[in-house]
Amino acid sequence: MRCIFCRIVAGEADGDILFQDEKMTAFRDMRPQAPTHVLIVPNSHVSSLAELLDTDSSLLVRMFSQAHHLAEAMGVADKGYRLIINNGPDAGQVVDHLHLHLLGGKRMPPNRMSLRWKDEMA
Ligand code: 5GP
Ligand code: ZN
Repeated sequence: MRCIFCRIVAGEADGDILFQDEKMTAFRDMRPQAPTHVLIVPNSHVSSLAELLDTDSSLLVRMFSQAHHLAEAMGVADKGYRLIINNGPDAGQVVDHLHLHLLGGKRMPPNRMSLRWKDEMA
């Protein structure tokens, strides 16, 4: 069976698609972790960041730009948003089709390491 994100991109599986062009697709995460939780994926099946950098590195910039445009369109850009790529098993990547998470619409906790660093600098 084909990968679930490939099927959403192809319109073969349900997905709340917010944006699509010839290179990438953005759709709502089915288990949102924030009021705004969108996944931005390459249309072709790419498993990892290394694979994307090898095949179409300019798409990475376009995915991040699109994430910002979506954040603006969804009204979360001004207050801030988080962009995450879980890349590989140690990062907890579950779906083997590279995806950029866009999370926004709520106040998220700062990274614990950054807080420690801030304390040490004070
Ligand atoms: P990962 O942990 O691999 O970075 O994130 C995978 C994400 O894909 C999760 O947030 C999960 O909720 C989402 N997801 C998994 N299956 C589906 C699906 O069939 N449709 C949608 N819209 N999201 C999915
Ligand atoms: Zn795929």
